[in-house]
Amino acid sequence: MTRLQQKIDDRMQRAEQSGLLRRRQKLLQSVGCANRLVHQGSIKHNFASNDYLGLSQSPELIEALGEGARLYGVGSGASPLVTGYSDAHAELEQALCEATGHEAALLFSSGFSANSALMKTLLDKESVVVADKLIHASLIDGLLESGAQLKRFAHNDVGAAKRLVDKHQPLALVTESVFSMDGDLAPIDELYGLAKGNGAWLIVDDAHGFGVLPQGGHNRVDASCCDIQIVTFGKALGCQGAAILGSNAGIDFLVAHARDYIYSTALSPASAHVALKAVSLTQDGERRGKLAQVIEAFKLAAKARGLELLGSQTPIQPLVVGDIDKLAKVDRELKAAGFWVGAIRPPTVPQGSARLRITLNVKHTQAELEALADQLQRALQD
Ligand code: PMP
Repeated sequence: MTRLQQKIDDRMQRAEQSGLLRRRQKLLQSVGCANRLVHQGSIKHNFASNDYLGLSQSPELIEALGEGARLYGVGSGASPLVTGYSDAHAELEQALCEATGHEAALLFSSGFSANSALMKTLLDKESVVVADKLIHASLIDGLLESGAQLKRFAHNDVGAAKRLVDKHQPLALVTESVFSMDGDLAPIDELYGLAKGNGAWLIVDDAHGFGVLPQGGHNRVDASCCDIQIVTFGKALGCQGAAILGSNAGIDFLVAHARDYIYSTALSPASAHVALKAVSLTQDGERRGKLAQVIEAFKLAAKARGLELLGSQTPIQPLVVGDIDKLAKVDRELKAAGFWVGAIRPPTVPQGSARLRITLNVKHTQAELEALADQLQRALQD
């Protein structure tokens, strides 16, 4: 056996023994049905996807994908600075700028790539960055690659962030708008005030907020409350890809220096056309309003059954179980009863906080929400 194969086998064995080995499962989305999926021929209630507005299965986006392919073809054919940047991309960038008030945008094939490219291109080993403890792996990976000094503050603790800012005078503060595993909101306005008052940028990963949080007013994320905003298309927008939004100067810098942008095939123009349609569908607020009703209904159903949720106001509703063996048991029982819920274990979440990550979408019915709450109550009791 080769040395590398031996190393791989050892690591897999250790992960298996600790009960933390990750494996894929083949699942089929039911077309037109964001609240269902099919596993080994059996239909489950889908409470695990990030398709908050049900757009991934919507007739509008299915139509837009065909239209995009007819207009522009399927592939972009090259990286953006060669021949891969087209009207499809420019129109999407323009729509995102209009929706958020930022001057310019830059498209990537995934949020992971956008986040890590942003961090490693803007920052270097002379840079200091202050970031929330719970920011996404893609931001952390980019920061590690940049060599920047990373100072992390306790989750959503503005006082702790201020102490780090006063001491280190960082180039940037980094947070998420809606935290992916807790579903809670960052104190964006306070962090922006802190950044501005200290000559730093505020960078907000809005992966789980765009299309979900209100536009304008309290809890919005746009150019009025951050310097850079990352929007991903795989969540509320129901498709794929991502954009970094910011000033003309900032985006020009990234176009010229971001290796992940320069040396990677551009986002497919058909995908850009789908995302453009998705952005337009989220503008009127109707789907957001429906989602808010589903969230409220689930919280009431959970409360009536004594389930202790974390108090999130977003479609991400975690229920901390703690012990990984108990989580595995609850997860098995939920699946057997027809409910597919995210079972999230360390290291994705901190040790001791293994949890069910229940995600809601506009297609969930009152009856489904009540049935899930009943089943959670049963599974957690024994
Ligand atoms: N940021 C956050 C907060 C996320 O949850 C994710 C996806 N898990 C990403 C970025 C990466 O986005 P994408 O899935 O488009 O790569």
